[in-house]
Amino acid sequence: MACKFSTEQIRKTIEFHGHSCPGLAIGMRAAEYCLTSFPDADPTALVCVTETDMCGVDGIQYLTGCTFGKGNLIHRDYGKMAFSFFDRTTNEGFRLVFSYTTEGAGKEDMIKCVMETDLSELFTRQELHSGAPRSARVLTGMICESCGERTMESRTRRYRGQTLCIPCFRQVDQKA
Ligand SMILES: [Zn+2]
Ligand SMILES: [Zn+2]
Repeated sequence: MACKFSTEQIRKTIEFHGHSCPGLAIGMRAAEYCLTSFPDADPTALVCVTETDMCGVDGIQYLTGCTFGKGNLIHRDYGKMAFSFFDRTTNEGFRLVFSYTTEGAGKEDMIKCVMETDLSELFTRQELHSGAPRSARVLTGMICESCGERTMESRTRRYRGQTLCIPCFRQVDQKA
């Protein structure tokens, strides 16, 4: 079935992203997959883990409300067209991998194809039972022993028995 979002929603998503492109179309379809799979989910309970930081993420941010600022959009830099969605209230989740080939088509044809193909043909779905990953911001802050600034524990590095923030670690690491 073709994309269920209204022409108006699609227009606004394109406006948010700045241009229409195949990547954004993939993101919009992934968002649609998420919203149809969790129709009753409280939007603030949705979590998305994206394995790419390309165009498609804007479609997901705009349409699902999972954003970096709210902490319910997590980027894992694997360079894959893959998105995992979780509903924190039920702990249900699944991972979508874009697995459709739109070979030989021009940009406009690719967009049309992505917008009109069945979701089940566009993505390979894998059930996840791990629950949503914890948001990094709930972890305790730590003080960098070099600059004294507070940083998230997950962003600290150990260097010769000291806890350092990433910029300070890079400085000593380069000198070493
Ligand atoms: Zn784009
Ligand atoms: Zn520091």
